[in-house]
Amino acid sequence: MPTLWFERALLADGWAERVRVALDGAIISAIETGVAPAPDDQRHGAALPGLCNVHSHGFQRGMAGLSERRGRPDDDFWSWREVMYRFLDRLTPDDIQAITAQAYVEMLEGGFTRVGEFHYLHNDVSGARYADPAETVGAIVAAAEQSGIGLTLLPVFYAHADFGGAPPAPGQRRFISDADGFARLVEASRAKLPGDAMLGIAPHSLRAVTAEELAAILPLAEDGPLHIHAAEQVREVEACVAWSGARPVQWLLDHAEVDARWCLIHSTHVDAGETARLAASGAVAGLCPVTEANLGDGVFPAVDYLAAGGRIGIGTDSNILIDAASELRAIEYSQRLTRRKRALLVDEAEPSVGATLFARAQAAGAQALGVTNGIAVGNAADILSLGLDHPAMIGAGADLLDRWIFAARPGAIDSVWRAGRKMVEHGRHIAADVVADRYRRTVTALLA
Ligand code: ZN
Repeated sequence: MPTLWFERALLADGWAERVRVALDGAIISAIETGVAPAPDDQRHGAALPGLCNVHSHGFQRGMAGLSERRGRPDDDFWSWREVMYRFLDRLTPDDIQAITAQAYVEMLEGGFTRVGEFHYLHNDVSGARYADPAETVGAIVAAAEQSGIGLTLLPVFYAHADFGGAPPAPGQRRFISDADGFARLVEASRAKLPGDAMLGIAPHSLRAVTAEELAAILPLAEDGPLHIHAAEQVREVEACVAWSGARPVQWLLDHAEVDARWCLIHSTHVDAGETARLAASGAVAGLCPVTEANLGDGVFPAVDYLAAGGRIGIGTDSNILIDAASELRAIEYSQRLTRRKRALLVDEAEPSVGATLFARAQAAGAQALGVTNGIAVGNAADILSLGLDHPAMIGAGADLLDRWIFAARPGAIDSVWRAGRKMVEHGRHIAADVVADRYRRTVTALLA
């Protein structure tokens, strides 16, 4: 195995200089600091732990950029969702694999070494179950294996179109299952997981799941993570209040024993009480700020939530643009734009916004995807390196993460190792051409 040498490395216990990292297969077997490189060491700039992408719908990468034209004067999340439903209507398992592989290649190039795939395309184009209930899970697993990204699979339970058990709409026929069918899907999914893949489950949202169904399906996760979309849209909050008298996050906190196993995706529209309670619960708020901006969802109260000790992960969700630094930057920028102040997301011990956001997203992202990460002996070797000769990084010191997140564009990521394998070299995934070629053919046919 090669030994890696970095000018600097963000280790589990902080920054170190002149660091050798030895690998034993997928695992970091030894770390030395303050040492010169040996002749055969691979030399790199600054090492960071790979980030977890807590929320992805891989197939949506194939429609990125297709819904940026005004279709009607009141275009919003709900009209975008109609475009998305039309796009997914025809996708075969092969199409899903090709598109998702492209998304995963871009994730590795963009700084993510593990993805939480919130996977809800379960049925065939007619809405019938495939003979193998986990047929499309096979497509996701194949995409993860081709790209090399770590996978935390989150099969989605989806049964209704709206609060109170409303029957599903025709455009939702590919998502739908009952509790028994979902149990078979989870079992079949578990049997397909490769390597160090993890399994959780994801009730889609309180729109799509009744309280009784939620109670019935949660045990299927065993010890795995629990993810749910919550409070992304004002209309959703209003409908939840009309149904239950409570807002979505409030309802979950009151009824679902929300704790550190949970990741509430978006949690955009939370009031002061929900913000404090969600922070105290130990759950992760799965923020997807680039998608939330793209869809016009709203702004999460990140300043108050972090001040209350809340945990934030980042997700690329619709995969409109896949880049870890862009997600982190967008969280801070949303707060600056609404508060008309700068350098907001810091804590008392750390004045750097970039360092604060990176540390929070790294820790909470791993929690939300059910893994341990960080550059430490015994952990998986999930590492990115930033080129210190990149123009935005010249002379970087304690502001290195600020330089990367706010000023560097994606080209600053030089190499990415995932489970000890070097998947990205000079900014480019080793299978980028093969995956992009298949993606090109797939999307060309879909758009024809
Ligand atoms: Zn989502």
